Amino acid sequence: MGRIPSIRPNLTRREVLAAFLGLPVALTACNQRHAPPLPPGEIVGASDVIGHRVRDGLRITPTQDQWQRTGVVIVGGGIAGLSAARHLLDAGFNDFVLLELEREAGGTARSGSSSLVAYPWGAHYLPAPMKENIKLISLLDEMGIIEGRDDDGEPVVAEQFLCRDPEERVFFRGRWYEGLYLHAGASPEDLAQFEAFNTEVSRLVAWRDGRGRRAFAIPLATGSDDAEITDLDKLTMSEWLERRGWRSQRLRWLIDYGCRDDYGLTIDQTSAWAGLFYFCSRVTRPGTEAQPLMTWPEGNGRLVSYLYEKVKSKVRLGLAAAEIIPTDPNGRAGVDVTAMDQDGEHVAGFHADRVIFAAPHFLSNYVIRPYRDNRPAHVGEFQYGAWMVANLFLNERPKDRGFPLAWDNVLYESPALGYVVATHQRGLDRGPTVFTYYYPLCDVDPREARSKLLSAGRDEWADIALTDLSRAHPEIRSLTDRLDVMRWGHAMIRPRPGFVWSDARRAAAKPFRGIHFAHTDLSGVPLFEEAFYHGIRTAGEILAETSGVSR
Ligand SMILES: Cc1cc2nc3c(=O)[nH]c(=O)nc-3n(C[C@H](O)[C@H](O)[C@H](O)COP(=O)(O)OP(=O)(O)OC[C@H]3O[C@@H](n4cnc5c(N)ncnc54)[C@H](O)[C@@H]3O)c2cc1C
Repeated sequence: MGRIPSIRPNLTRREVLAAFLGLPVALTACNQRHAPPLPPGEIVGASDVIGHRVRDGLRITPTQDQWQRTGVVIVGGGIAGLSAARHLLDAGFNDFVLLELEREAGGTARSGSSSLVAYPWGAHYLPAPMKENIKLISLLDEMGIIEGRDDDGEPVVAEQFLCRDPEERVFFRGRWYEGLYLHAGASPEDLAQFEAFNTEVSRLVAWRDGRGRRAFAIPLATGSDDAEITDLDKLTMSEWLERRGWRSQRLRWLIDYGCRDDYGLTIDQTSAWAGLFYFCSRVTRPGTEAQPLMTWPEGNGRLVSYLYEKVKSKVRLGLAAAEIIPTDPNGRAGVDVTAMDQDGEHVAGFHADRVIFAAPHFLSNYVIRPYRDNRPAHVGEFQYGAWMVANLFLNERPKDRGFPLAWDNVLYESPALGYVVATHQRGLDRGPTVFTYYYPLCDVDPREARSKLLSAGRDEWADIALTDLSRAHPEIRSLTDRLDVMRWGHAMIRPRPGFVWSDARRAAAKPFRGIHFAHTDLSGVPLFEEAFYHGIRTAGEILAETSGVSR
């Protein structure tokens, strides 16, 4: 996909559509005479005001009576923070508080709901774990999602939580096709390269290092750090394919789609290690299918709700950590945390023994006082992609040509990823529904991507989403009663070449003066499983320190 220029203020409709969807689509859209008006809707979520105040160096001084003592402060109520909180409570450790900037928990796995159905605002699926991921299996067991083990000891997910058929389809030149690989019209050479790629994936799935570790495992800390595998991080996914002479457009598209879908990066920007991690880490044995996906109408919002219910007595929503101040060089005397609510009306201070920093890592430079004063170089290496997510509330399903509506519906010729259907998992195949449309901004410069994301308001984004989808669904505008937009400025960590196996990532995971770091960022890839792992890891570190026992 080509680089899209930043958009300037006061652009015409055609210029906006051309910037985000390309000139041919913009010209076609602008030549249509009777396009129905845009449906109503709003920009939702992400409280920029308090977030920006924190980034501007917010320094507050709570009065003496606004301070309280606590063992641990967890900063951030996304999957990492909630998982840390659950682990502490399960170990009988109650002396903590979790601060979440937003008025609801879940971070990038948040969801919304309408009178019809719940729907995701970000993360929307989780592959079934392999038997080695014991801690994740225990969460899913607790939630009643696992109904047993097969003969190999692999967990068996209860059918209602597995993505219903049909799972995915792709739209290409006027009709829908089953699956994501475009078999229709593929040449013998295309098919040979597709098979060769799958054979290479199988080889990497079977690969073990001297310690018996897989090349790519989830969580990635359990996979191999052997140079034969980690050297893949020095290349882009495109270069890796080029070295094999694999230039099939269909194969490149499939891999590019995978990179954009999981990382918000194109095939030319993604580390080959990360690209292969996507294809290999979810396959149990060579030659078998990838692990089945678990999903819910609200996506990973289901997992958020469960975790939040367990720990909510400890959570303070709408309270942002403003500053984290270690009180002695070794962190032994503790860590002070100041906090402020979204309206700036309420401030609080916590004298804590330890802090779990479960907010995106780039924020550590703005919140941790010694980092503010003297920014460590490793934090600057954490780069984030920007994403737009739109929820379209439809009064009826669009008509289809070709393969029928699936859970995941992808447009081959679009810079966006297409949409998932919230009612799919409920078995409602007719009538009103909600489509969740995903658009990652893959510009080379992440700051440029962010400013482009924010320069388009609700109406521009609504027009972009509806125009894009009208390639496959010409009547989409008249079917959409409402369209809300979420703009994720720092949506997810970008696993560009050299980052996943960098010293910067290793340095970031080390505790600093009583502060332990937990966030999916610390794995270099944005996944539920990684956030969950780091939450439990940091809680375990603190429990081991406080009791002298490793848990
Ligand atoms: C559009 C999109 C789609 C995705 N799809 C998937 C998917 O399908 N499957 C998947 O596995 N992953 C997906 N992801 C990745 C997802 O980010 C991870 O799965 C996971 O939810 C990350 O959790 P986290 O706790 O590490 O971070 P976050 O979700 O970033 O949570 C961090 C929390 O810290 C809070 N915070 C920030 N600053 C402060 C402060 N100063 N004080 C207090 N709190 C603060 C934030 O408000 C937030 O709630 C997706 C991400 C996005 C953006």
